[in-house]
Amino acid sequence: MESFFKVEKICNLKNLHKNFPCINTEKIETKNALNRVTAENIYAKNHVPGFNRSTMDGFAVKSSDTFGASQSSPLILNAKYKSIMGEIPDFMLNQGEAALIGTGGMLPDGADAVVIIENTSWLNKTEIEIYTSTAPFSNTLKKDDDYHKGSLVLEKGTKITKKNIAALISSDQDEIFVFKNLKAGIISTGDEIDENKNLSHGKIRDLNRHILSAVCLENGFEPVFYGVSKDTKESLEEKTRLALKECSCVIISGGSSVGTRDITIKAIENLEDSEILVHGIAMSPGKPAIIARAGKIPVFGLPGNPFSCFCVFYIAVIPFLKHISGMKNPFDRPFVKAALTRNVHSASGRTDFIRVKLHIENNNVHAIPIPGHSGLSRPLAQCDGLLEIPENKEGGIKGEIFFVHLIQ
Ligand code: AMP
Ligand code: MG
Repeated sequence: MESFFKVEKICNLKNLHKNFPCINTEKIETKNALNRVTAENIYAKNHVPGFNRSTMDGFAVKSSDTFGASQSSPLILNAKYKSIMGEIPDFMLNQGEAALIGTGGMLPDGADAVVIIENTSWLNKTEIEIYTSTAPFSNTLKKDDDYHKGSLVLEKGTKITKKNIAALISSDQDEIFVFKNLKAGIISTGDEIDENKNLSHGKIRDLNRHILSAVCLENGFEPVFYGVSKDTKESLEEKTRLALKECSCVIISGGSSVGTRDITIKAIENLEDSEILVHGIAMSPGKPAIIARAGKIPVFGLPGNPFSCFCVFYIAVIPFLKHISGMKNPFDRPFVKAALTRNVHSASGRTDFIRVKLHIENNNVHAIPIPGHSGLSRPLAQCDGLLEIPENKEGGIKGEIFFVHLIQ
């Protein structure tokens, strides 16, 4: 066995992704932009919502007309007007006047507030009593409360999701520039991996292909599978070359260590203009991971055990792919802080990731470790997240608080 070389701490990986350029951009219709990444700052073309609106059912008024009104001494206003929903009022509100208005209706010129319906009553067909004084702009949205014309709506590098799609649509841009979809080439390796429906005895199913594809899809990347390579350099090189022609990154699982059957490193070294940037990450599971480049395309070698493969991909590789696909802050991922429910061991000098189930009790989040070898799929299926034990710590004790990366 050769020893590992270029072992890198997780925190140092942050500088590496800058070796790789972002993918190209394209112009698309805004309505089709869900799950894409903005390739330009998006500014509001107009004021949003564009006109002063009521946020309640009630009467549009001049706020100055309501001062002093109370339950015991109501004020009377002339209410002959009505603001019709979705239309521009064809009247102007003068002193002493009110206009019936619904939630979302446009405030007439002259009005600067809304008295809610519950604080009024009809005196006769054209007059109302109001029982409360109303401050300017109460129960209204101003015409640029959401976005002022020309203001920044979405920063370049923002993934368009359920959270910000409404803001994007508000910007009134018909078309926007986004980064192209990232194609991720996926290769499994191992003479023992069987793609057939009926497994031969002694073979195992290809789990990593599906794990990697699933993580790619949920991040908005397009997984392209190039099959299972035999444990020979020639077989893996051939598949890798094909993937390099068609994809923006290549992910190989299995064979990433330094045993005689571990051919990933050798296959990558044989590629044109290739360079091994990292062989070995100071993390557990996942130490024998490879980060390399072939030309400007990153090639990742992940360990074969399904949980190790998942862990390295999720923690160390996904930020690279986010960066290439144009996303800002590629190292951000959702986390909670949780208290360990029992002592766990880890070695100092490496970052450990423990599968945990989360449990909320008395408003505190507890992390219950799920034991099991990294070759098993069950503990991964049962976990809610990966509890991170930093490299400077030797394990964690019951009750100690750690970050847990959420896995939905
Ligand atoms: P390796 O990293 O190739 O030494 O593989 C480590 C362990 O992971 C071995 O038990 C392999 O059989 C297993 N393994 C490798 N690739 C896969 C895969 N695609 N799906 C499931 N298990 C795998
Ligand atoms: Mg193998």
